[in-house]
Amino acid sequence: MTLRFAALGSGSRGNALLVESAHTLVLVDCGLTLKAIEARLGSLGRDPRDIDAVLITHEHTDHVRGVSAFARRYRTTVRMTAGTAAGSASRTLPKLETFNCHRPFEIGDISVEPFPVPHDAREPCQFVFKAGGRRLGILSDTGHITAHIKAHLAGCDAMALEFNHDAEALWAGDYPEHLKQRIASQVGHLNNVQAAELISDVVDKRLQWVVALHLSEANNSPGRVREILQDALGNDHSAEAHLAVQHEPSDWLDVV
Ligand SMILES: [Zn+2]
Ligand SMILES: [Zn+2]
Repeated sequence: MTLRFAALGSGSRGNALLVESAHTLVLVDCGLTLKAIEARLGSLGRDPRDIDAVLITHEHTDHVRGVSAFARRYRTTVRMTAGTAAGSASRTLPKLETFNCHRPFEIGDISVEPFPVPHDAREPCQFVFKAGGRRLGILSDTGHITAHIKAHLAGCDAMALEFNHDAEALWAGDYPEHLKQRIASQVGHLNNVQAAELISDVVDKRLQWVVALHLSEANNSPGRVREILQDALGNDHSAEAHLAVQHEPSDWLDVV
């Protein structure tokens, strides 16, 4: 094992993901309550004090809800872009470090490669994590796929990828019109077809698994996502399909 991943929870009500190497543990987003973060870390066999840094992708509440309480209790370093820091309550953080989302940096033995994404926040980004020659890509909260995103995610050994909504279900559903427009826009969220297309575009023999993130409870269904994801991975391919859910953590997934 060189890298492993787990979702503490993922969906429109809160997101928090773990990336771990032999010597380093990173929390990506902290959008659950402090209590939920502590409990779910415990159920995955980790202590809050094990976390070397929290990385924040953007300032939307479902990604930062618990970050201030967590960082103050455990004196954890929190890292985000300057735009995200300007757009959030970053003054309450005990140790804040900003990064340039075009420049890789290290946390312990993990190399972090941030990249910007089109989403309606101040300076949103997502990440590729590298350790021991393996690459794990995380992509969520993006309205569409840019050439720059594809270039970063090409050749990943594993991927955690937003499958936010089914476009038909969104337009047929009960959300107010302005919210539907926002979600479906170029700076909103990825629908199932966009996510599947990305996989078809960047998939190669290296890909070991894909975990679907940020499923909308109102405008998507786990069964539909699983079907589309498995289709995108193809029958002749050995990559596994997994789903992260809102109310409980996933299992640990190893990148071997
Ligand atoms: Zn979100
Ligand atoms: Zn967002």
